[in-house]
Amino acid sequence: MKKIYTGAANPSRRKFIKSGGALAAAIAVAPVATLASKDSPEKLIGIQLGAASFMDEGVEQVLDLLQERAGVNTIFMSTFCYDRGLNGRQIPGYPFPDHGPKESDEGTYHGGFYATPHAKFYEKTAIKGDKMTAPDFGGVDVLARVLPVAKKKGIKVFASVLDTFEYPADVLESQLKDFVEVDLQGQRKKTICFFRPDVREFWKAVVTDLASSYDLDGIMFFNERNGPLINAVGATHAESFSSAHITCFCEDHKRAAAERGIDFERAKEGFHKLDEFVQRSLKNQRPSDGYYVEFQRLMLQYPEVLAYQQLFDYGKHRVLEDVRDAVKAVNKNIQVGFHIEHVNSWNPFYRAGRNYEALASMADLLKVVVYNNCAGERYVNFIRNIQSSIFRDVPAEQLMRLNNHLLGYGNEASLEQLPAAGFSPDYVYSETVRAIAGVKGKCKILPGIDIGIPTEKGSRKASPDDTYAATMAALKAKPDGVIFSRKYSEMMLANVDAAGRAVKESLIKRS
Ligand SMILES: [Zn+2]
Repeated sequence: MKKIYTGAANPSRRKFIKSGGALAAAIAVAPVATLASKDSPEKLIGIQLGAASFMDEGVEQVLDLLQERAGVNTIFMSTFCYDRGLNGRQIPGYPFPDHGPKESDEGTYHGGFYATPHAKFYEKTAIKGDKMTAPDFGGVDVLARVLPVAKKKGIKVFASVLDTFEYPADVLESQLKDFVEVDLQGQRKKTICFFRPDVREFWKAVVTDLASSYDLDGIMFFNERNGPLINAVGATHAESFSSAHITCFCEDHKRAAAERGIDFERAKEGFHKLDEFVQRSLKNQRPSDGYYVEFQRLMLQYPEVLAYQQLFDYGKHRVLEDVRDAVKAVNKNIQVGFHIEHVNSWNPFYRAGRNYEALASMADLLKVVVYNNCAGERYVNFIRNIQSSIFRDVPAEQLMRLNNHLLGYGNEASLEQLPAAGFSPDYVYSETVRAIAGVKGKCKILPGIDIGIPTEKGSRKASPDDTYAATMAALKAKPDGVIFSRKYSEMMLANVDAAGRAVKESLIKRS
């Protein structure tokens, strides 16, 4: 495939920018923020960060730094969040960045709601917002502290909401036991089932509360879930998988299946058969007709399995529609965004369930994950997982090459080298182009740029050149902006600067 983008290693262009006349020279030394607001009011230059960054480093200081050095005009603050990928200091065990405290918050991190829940919004659900207040900073309403400062600086604020709960076992047992997912073996899980009416009402309550109580520019909703079929065959980038622990088979799921004409018992039976097949595959017990044929035969015998995966997609998307409707009922000017997870980029099964045009009808903007450094090791995990089950007859390298073709990837590194090499800027560009083409102008596309997402030993770590090249590649695709991800507390400042340099240079090129 033709190389679309040459990235940072293009000294001639950068030399030209530095020496190309008085105007370019003046722009080159101007603060990024000035350019962003003057020349590109329509481009959203966003960054994700958690409450910890503000509490550790100061609201004013963090916002000034991001605005001046990275051209940030919008922040996505993790407001309802238990997940360390978006929240807290650096993930324990990985090096600290060169800003903020060099001390782990492992012992004190809890997560939760970093705004003030108002009881009146939670009347329709047994799950109460005040039970979720994050205790990390003594219950401080971090969103309320950040908003006025951001407004004063002309920075827009999105509250990010992530739909997971990571509760201590006793709290789960006493408060949430009726709302969690049930796996194939009948075991209750820690994840919340979005077919439970109280759960749907809870997310509506959270976003209605946020939209009503705060002067927000937007709400970004995250629900990173794959569905039962994808989990059963291990078509994920998890380091390992267990086909038995697939969800959800609760009473509300049973009801939802019946409403859509799906035979719940047949679906369950099909998943049991699938589980047995996967377990045999993992033990290297090859069916006489081959692994893939056996899998395909199961799908023919149990179309209810596919229907049940689709039911999951329906439930997942319905939550987003709930969120959109709830927010717009308060104020139609508040933007609603949806995070499109990484697996959508490399899993053809998952892609098939995510139609960009359909998603565009549910949101004002989609944040599309195109994290290219960590993609190397994540994609290899995905390939190794599917190669250990349904594609066990295909050598891993060849399976990856086939998958690359199915996905429209360019010439990326070999399976062996990919974790260390990461994905190229071409990947960032082409995935951004695909998303823009997919939504057909019906919503905004904002690629999420990988800045320092922790990876395993030996795997690609973001460098300033990587960050610059990825940001340039994304902006070259002409999206509505970019979102630097996943959280400021894992980013080195040299990488933040490199992102800012790319924003600035891409604006020069357009002017
Ligand atoms: Zn359920």
